Amino acid sequence: MDYSREKLKWNGWGWLAQDFDLHGREEGLWAFLQSQLGIDDLPNTPAVAMEDMPLPENRLSRSQIAELRGLLTEDRVCVDRYERLFHAFGKSYHDLIRLRRGDLDEVPDGVVYPESSDELAALTQFATTHHLALIPYGGGSSVVGGIEARAGGRAGVLTVDLTRMNRVLDIDEESLLATAEAGIYGPQLEEHLQKHGYTLGHYPQSFQFSTLGGWIAARGAGQQSNRYGSAAKFFAGATVVTPCGTLHSITTPNSAAGPDLRHLIAGSEGVFGFITEATVRLHPLPTARDYRGFLFSEFKAGADVIRQIMQEHVDVAMLRLSDADETWFLSQFKSIGKPASWASKATSAALDLVGVGEKPCVLLVGLEGTTTSTSASRVAIARIAMGAGGIPIGAKPGKGWYGTRFDMPYLRDALLERGVGVDTLETSTTWSNVQHLHQVVRKQIATSIRRHTRVGNGEPIVMAHISHSYTDGASLYFTFIFPMSLQAPVEQWRAIKREVSDAILENGGTISHHHGVGTDHRDWMTGEKGELGIAMLKAVRDSVDPHGLMNPGKLLP
Ligand SMILES: Cc1cc2nc3c(=O)[nH]c(=O)nc-3n(C[C@H](O)[C@H](O)[C@H](O)COP(=O)(O)OP(=O)(O)OC[C@H]3O[C@@H](n4cnc5c(N)ncnc54)[C@H](O)[C@@H]3O)c2cc1C
Repeated sequence: MDYSREKLKWNGWGWLAQDFDLHGREEGLWAFLQSQLGIDDLPNTPAVAMEDMPLPENRLSRSQIAELRGLLTEDRVCVDRYERLFHAFGKSYHDLIRLRRGDLDEVPDGVVYPESSDELAALTQFATTHHLALIPYGGGSSVVGGIEARAGGRAGVLTVDLTRMNRVLDIDEESLLATAEAGIYGPQLEEHLQKHGYTLGHYPQSFQFSTLGGWIAARGAGQQSNRYGSAAKFFAGATVVTPCGTLHSITTPNSAAGPDLRHLIAGSEGVFGFITEATVRLHPLPTARDYRGFLFSEFKAGADVIRQIMQEHVDVAMLRLSDADETWFLSQFKSIGKPASWASKATSAALDLVGVGEKPCVLLVGLEGTTTSTSASRVAIARIAMGAGGIPIGAKPGKGWYGTRFDMPYLRDALLERGVGVDTLETSTTWSNVQHLHQVVRKQIATSIRRHTRVGNGEPIVMAHISHSYTDGASLYFTFIFPMSLQAPVEQWRAIKREVSDAILENGGTISHHHGVGTDHRDWMTGEKGELGIAMLKAVRDSVDPHGLMNPGKLLP
């Protein structure tokens, strides 16, 4: 895969040559959204062209640029418009609306592409001497402001793009461990592992455009984390270059030698240093895959089924339960531009008959492993789901989801072109609080959107699903679609985000289950960790980065 910067969108998602396929469905989609949101017209809201973007003056001097080129090579030190804008923000709704409007406070003064730990160590020295900030940059898919070019009071910003550090260094087949450089993209890593018959199995929705180092630094979770583990689990060890030297963590499976430093590396978001190499736990490539669906008459029944599956330790790769609003939205979206078929009418009539009702909730179950293990899980899951009133709907919805699982983010770009806002947020809590948190947060999102949106007399679309599950609880992932404020979209987003984040913390959720903290969640960190907890993390940061040059303004309040 060619990840040259000019092949990728700088103010949208993914490949430049790829858009969400709305062929023959565009008019239907706009009409559907207009009627749901109660808007007469969806305005064209084109993005500002790159050449018209206001670009802050470069704070790097000529001699500094020359010195940097001496440390790396000429072609790996970039100060041109494209590189500076490409690396200015991540890929959140908040990032894209600012990029599309040319609403930039800070952009990096330069972008550097190191190729080794030694070069990174030299860059930290350079930044210390010249009083610059360094921003570790993997795939740039952060949705929490994790790579914003904040100088934090320093004299300028260098974004350090790690994607040229992309080699797989070792596969230890006996221990099922692989070591790779941290800037390797998901598909590059999987291609290499799969040639040897293994997989890491970490497939976040951003898989194609995110890196190993970013997965660990943001403490993320892939869509099949039930089987393959979240980053904190599959991460077995790392090398971290800090401004005060290089840290090598152990890779033993467990250790009682005091607190495990690996827990400080996973989730460190670049504020302690650069993860340069990481060792991760592998699995043999699955030889069987089975994704299928069940319908439930209510969210609680589906959630109870997930809880039981987890607490009985059934071997599953993914359990994804959409609430009634998400199930309804997805089925409406799928049918846009298509005449209601005889088969689908018959299916809804049949569902009415078996008592699933008008607004069912769909549970997708993903199984991966061997034919024997997936068959055993299929039987166990059918027993639990059908015992709780679930109606099996076969493999078609599962296959459909699997085949298009990386496509949805492209749709956001199309919506932004027509003044339609779409954002997501996620949290997790214990099973005893899942229903309460789900209700409170969806209500708060709708209330906040209404309060901070002046257009539209319909209802915002607010939907959620359980995305990751454990024996003791689950994560809730919310998506909301609303009329964007054309005058002040950033303020609108900020007000909604603030109120909903408060509601999450007040009602027993974490500020993030897998997106991380960055700048967007930083203000809720004290509420989550407590003053003392934050003081402990700051003490660690100060011990490896006393001058505060690493990723200022992220993670820690
Ligand atoms: C459409 C979309 C879908 C997403 N789906 C998921 C999902 O399913 N699951 C999930 O977990 N996340 C998801 N994310 C969020 C994002 O993709 C993850 O946080 C991902 O792990 C970031 O990886 P990256 O390589 O892009 O890191 P970046 O965005 O480049 O960086 C993320 C953070 O890590 C730091 N960092 C990056 N590399 C290093 C390094 N080598 N050393 C030290 N610090 C580093 C950065 O400074 C920053 O703070 C999604 C994002 C988008 C836009």
